[in-house]
Amino acid sequence: MKKIFSLSVITLLFLTSCLFFSRKAESTPEPIPPTSTTAPDINFESGLMPEYQGIVQKLKDASLYTIEFVIADDLYHITGSEEVRYTNNEDVNLDEIQLRLFPNILGGNMTVKNVKVNGDDVTPTYKLNNSLLIVPLKDPLQPKKSLTLSMDFSVTVPQTVDMNYGVQAFYDNVLALAHAYPMIAVYDDEGWNSEIPPQSGDVTYADMSFFVVNVDAPKDVTVVISGREVNRQDNGVRQQITVEAGPVRDFYLAASPDYEVFTKEVDGITLRFYTHSDLQQGAKYALDVAARSLEVFGKRYAPYPYTELDFVSTPTYALGIEYPGMIAITEWIVDPDNSYLEATVAHEVGHQWFYNLVGNDQLDEPWLDESLTQFITLQYFTDEYGQAGNEGFRADLEGRWAYLDNSPIPVGMPVRDYSDAEYSGIVYGRGGLFFEVLRDEMGVEVFDNFIKEYTTDNAWGIATAEILRTEAEAHCKCDLSALFEAWIYP
Ligand SMILES: [Zn+2]
Repeated sequence: MKKIFSLSVITLLFLTSCLFFSRKAESTPEPIPPTSTTAPDINFESGLMPEYQGIVQKLKDASLYTIEFVIADDLYHITGSEEVRYTNNEDVNLDEIQLRLFPNILGGNMTVKNVKVNGDDVTPTYKLNNSLLIVPLKDPLQPKKSLTLSMDFSVTVPQTVDMNYGVQAFYDNVLALAHAYPMIAVYDDEGWNSEIPPQSGDVTYADMSFFVVNVDAPKDVTVVISGREVNRQDNGVRQQITVEAGPVRDFYLAASPDYEVFTKEVDGITLRFYTHSDLQQGAKYALDVAARSLEVFGKRYAPYPYTELDFVSTPTYALGIEYPGMIAITEWIVDPDNSYLEATVAHEVGHQWFYNLVGNDQLDEPWLDESLTQFITLQYFTDEYGQAGNEGFRADLEGRWAYLDNSPIPVGMPVRDYSDAEYSGIVYGRGGLFFEVLRDEMGVEVFDNFIKEYTTDNAWGIATAEILRTEAEAHCKCDLSALFEAWIYP
């Protein structure tokens, strides 16, 4: 998910991140507003490009979250409520539903109360350091049947960026609110798939869902939210913003009193960059790179699905972090002369295809999003700048792997099986180079068709290494087992 710093920069940032920023709470959280029931006139199609609007009906059994977030004046206390319509899309009965409470392992705190199933009180249990909420079902939920879960929650956001790159933090006057709602876990061939994510790599693994979210926040703060804004009002002190998002794999929000917005339109897509006004040049340059990346990836893989793509600068110590239709860029690289900016923007835009549109288990098979996204970033540089661009970015991949003396550590391992240095060198370095080797083996034309079809075949779903290999072999009509043994399989 994230494009991470090179090792020397990680070390540097660990040191500088010891400079804590703290801000005294200015008020207690607002009372929780009543849970909205059915939002009127929900129209997820309006947030999708025309060629994708049919997916809303096809995914009608995806989870539908209705969430209220109330952000206190101090910007790091959040209260809220959530209602989820959940459908059992598996072929077995479910006797429990598992939800992730990520703030409890991201340096903050989340509590949940008033948990109900179809309006009836239930007593949940907790596991994984309180990051897993298990909701028992009195009657097993049969395949294709639905239920409604509801609960109230409160979150205290950490005021440091020490955990997991600071994905969830209030720091430097910016609230970065990732994964801050009770989030349904994925049920797959392993059953409910939940674990505590390592410090390297991405935190979530999620199915496509729909969100109707109301955010209540201080009026003087610019709030940037996943999805498409459908309503906004304020009473002079507080503002209420309602958004609809979906299908998306996650919901993200960033807020700061310091944000200014810079905008660019490209082929019916509105691009916005929210950052400090003195970073205007960097923001405009990033939007230009984003527009060109959208064009390259849209042509090569599949059209970009949404009508909007938002960027926010945050104090994260990853270079960038991708969310569906949103991207966080670390503030210090928002500068047209910063050599990290173009590659970071192209890489994070690339994740809109590989992570969001085509999902994967980001903890067990991180190469499916990270290594492939490194490769398509290389493709961006090649398409934009020819041989020189290719050589320039390939040197980055090669440098990462060379840091490990080109050790043949497999690309296809879970995040937890790599050291930090290996995760960077293998998943971000060797893994990107693997796709060049695969292309050489398959032939350029066959390979390009394969990646395109892999994208459309797996759009909105979850791919696996076996799916990728099977589709590749079907295209080249060849046996790739030796190549996968040499590069991918542990
Ligand atoms: Zn990434």
